[in-house]
Amino acid sequence: MVAIITGGASGIGESTARLFVRYGAKVVIADIQDDLGHSICKDVSSTGGTISYVHCDVTKEIDVENLVNTTIEKYGKLDIMYNNAGIVDNFGRSILDVKYEDFKRVIDVNVFGAFFGAKHAARVMIPAKKGSILFTASVASLVAGETPNAYTTSKHAVVGLTKNLCVELGRYGIRVNSISPNAIATPMLTNAVGIEPSKLEAAISELAVLKGKVLNAEDVAEAAVYLGSDESKYISGINIPVDGGFSTTNPSLS
Ligand code: NAD
Repeated sequence: MVAIITGGASGIGESTARLFVRYGAKVVIADIQDDLGHSICKDVSSTGGTISYVHCDVTKEIDVENLVNTTIEKYGKLDIMYNNAGIVDNFGRSILDVKYEDFKRVIDVNVFGAFFGAKHAARVMIPAKKGSILFTASVASLVAGETPNAYTTSKHAVVGLTKNLCVELGRYGIRVNSISPNAIATPMLTNAVGIEPSKLEAAISELAVLKGKVLNAEDVAEAAVYLGSDESKYISGINIPVDGGFSTTNPSLS
């Protein structure tokens, strides 16, 4: 299996890259944090895994086109495209205080990044008549009021793209699915809310429906392995919550 993971230099993307390699996949991680990306590759390669890093700003179509072309040149095919890169911004701000540029920055990464990734994966998967395209959405695609407006909007868009592409690309044997994690104390979230990881983790556990367990990036990676592999060969067009039941209930009632 050959997999691309965008946003692979940190958090969920990094965990997924490491797990994919452990399952024997050849992985290309794409990110804008070059030092982190290269150091993960060095670490994973030292254990015998096949992994490489490509600088790719997912908001730039040319970068994503180059990412897919480089992967094909290096490994000859693309089985899994995991569009995972994402950002969040403007926690706690009213819509009245959010500028066009603030909203657009989030949409550019979370929506256009997903669009470019899916488009260029489809370009090589359609002739191959197979492939699995994944997105990291969020519980923000399922419940309202927990995250900023641009972020919630962006993750609903990702799920819309998942459903549409499931239909369009299904005729070529390509599956398209999303994963919706609940909050995890990755750099994206800790930086955005300005709370140190251990305190944020405690606050997340307090709100969790499923007690006695802490959701982490590896749990999301496990879902990505399942949806990326042939174990899920008849699953397409879904948005799997990895949230311990959070999106099925009002957490204040638990
Ligand atoms: P993270 O910050 O640890 O990782 C995100 C990665 O995306 C970083 O390495 C970052 O450099 C990269 N990135 C950002 N902008 C990019 C761009 N323009 N081009 C390429 N790479 C870019 O955060 P994470 O929590 O692992 O986030 C991964 C995904 O999970 C995101 O889509 C996020 O919305 C989603 N998610 C996160 C949470 C959470 O609570 N952490 C919950 C639900 C969904």
